[in-house]
Amino acid sequence: MRILLTNDDGIYAEGIYAAYKALSKIAEVTVVAPDYEQSSVGHGITLFYPLFAKRISPENHFDGYAVSGKPADCVKFAVSVLFKGKKPDLVVSGINLGGNDGCSVFYSGTVAAAREGALMGLKAFSISLDCFDDPDFAQAAKFTSRFALWVHKNHLPSGTFLNVNVPLGKPKGVLFTRQGTEPIHEIFEKRKSPHDKHYYWMGAKMPVHKNDNKIDTYALKNKYITITPVRSDLTDEGFLSNVLMEKI
Ligand code: MN
Repeated sequence: MRILLTNDDGIYAEGIYAAYKALSKIAEVTVVAPDYEQSSVGHGITLFYPLFAKRISPENHFDGYAVSGKPADCVKFAVSVLFKGKKPDLVVSGINLGGNDGCSVFYSGTVAAAREGALMGLKAFSISLDCFDDPDFAQAAKFTSRFALWVHKNHLPSGTFLNVNVPLGKPKGVLFTRQGTEPIHEIFEKRKSPHDKHYYWMGAKMPVHKNDNKIDTYALKNKYITITPVRSDLTDEGFLSNVLMEKI
């Protein structure tokens, strides 16, 4: 199996190395990741700046390509330039530092890289560890390689990718879940620069979800590994079929 591995935390992040270590035992892994952190850039791509791709070996852990762009750029560049006609069997994005459950699927560069793979007709999953301080990627890395084998063996509908979140510590189990839709509440802190100018810095308060293990955010907080199938086709089927009946 040939895997394209990327992320949004950048090629020097601990999580991508943990994923590489686990995946290289079961597959041929090509690492193509942003040259610095690109968390929360969503599905952006780079059109008005050049892309530099530098072959590097971070701390001699692996050989990879550091790309001066966003996660979706990395997938496009890797498939078009490095893999040429021979597409990878699987795109893995992660392991992200911090959960990408609920509405984060729209903001996360890690999730966007998996979506980019799905848009190209490739099998893909994103994987994130629900923790920011003192991360231990061991459990998540073990699950990354186990899950890569499962995805490789099983059928995914065209355009669908899988968004995986792993809790910190020993998980209670694995659940297929729905994506949570509660909005993330932003907090704007007003601060003052040394030059006496006011500026704002946006933070976030994560939503509290109802007690329902069918929803990724809640199941993750309840210490389950969550797998949410996500479609690239965002069309609202129900609305569309109703509105087709109407004359405007
Ligand atoms: Mn990130």
